[in-house]
Amino acid sequence: MREIDGHTRTCGLIGNPVAHTQSPLIQNHMAQATGVNLVYVPFPVAQGNLEAAVKGALALDLLGLNVTVPYKSDVMSYLAEIDPLAERIGAVNTLVRCEGGYKGYNTDMPGLYRAMQQDGVEIAGRNVVILGAGGVARAVAVMLLEKGAAGAYILNRTVDKARAVAEEVNGIAGRSFAQAYALSDYGQIPGEKWLVIQATSVGMHPHVDCAVMEEPAFYRHVETGYDLIFNPGVTRFMKLTEAAGGRAYNGARMLVYQGVIAYELWTGVTIGQDTADELCRMMAQALAVR
Ligand code: NAP
Repeated sequence: MREIDGHTRTCGLIGNPVAHTQSPLIQNHMAQATGVNLVYVPFPVAQGNLEAAVKGALALDLLGLNVTVPYKSDVMSYLAEIDPLAERIGAVNTLVRCEGGYKGYNTDMPGLYRAMQQDGVEIAGRNVVILGAGGVARAVAVMLLEKGAAGAYILNRTVDKARAVAEEVNGIAGRSFAQAYALSDYGQIPGEKWLVIQATSVGMHPHVDCAVMEEPAFYRHVETGYDLIFNPGVTRFMKLTEAAGGRAYNGARMLVYQGVIAYELWTGVTIGQDTADELCRMMAQALAVR
């Protein structure tokens, strides 16, 4: 345990609930590894207290905050500045002290991109299938656009939500980039082999025996299945992907890299590959014992 003294800076996580978070493990390990005098703690923020929490953080001179469910969009109303990427995504998960308040960033999507690069999964020039049309799926579609994907096929249980996300992303693109389908319409997706990003909450602990898509005919097309769920470490979607001969990844590396990028924004210290790899191993261990 590091010494806490008069110079110790504080960062933390605001959300509701926050008790399940892995972020203190990730952030405090980085502070230790880089010798920065910083502690990171969870702050549960009750409904209706978000503005007071941001003002309180400013008054207490907190160096930075992560923001989680359900405040990633609402927090944008209480910030001095918003990074353009976060603005396009419509969600902020990291606050960094700036002149007169906090500047909001989205490190989830740069985190996912870095994770995919580390895993050797290329996006540029590819048509990518997204399962889901919630907040994260929308952010993934924006990330795919930013990173030069050829297009996105958004499949969702509620097809109207998929249509709304596709329309929004096409509005940002200024062209037809994303198309929306019902889950059962996967047969309309062109191409033989697909990169599929699983961005629904189906299969998350404790409902580990579920996948949003069960059809064997779907999985025959999945070359790479990238599940954003990190608990369990091997989801049913990943098992079905691998059973059909595809490569499968979970969301743990994304979780680590969103934290790495936030830490780098707060401290200006770059996290080396060794530390990032160690964090991924720690996450795998922490999740395995749950
Ligand atoms: P969300 O806004 O609540 O969206 C949930 C999505 O799951 C919707 O598309 C919803 O479809 C679908 N869904 C839920 N239950 C379903 C069911 N029984 N059958 C079919 N579809 C169902 O959630 P979110 O904020 O986008 O988060 C999605 C997931 O991303 C989270 O659960 C988490 O695992 C993952 N995540 C990972 C990281 C990371 O760092 N790795 C970070 C953030 C989130 P409908 O629209 O039809 O309801």
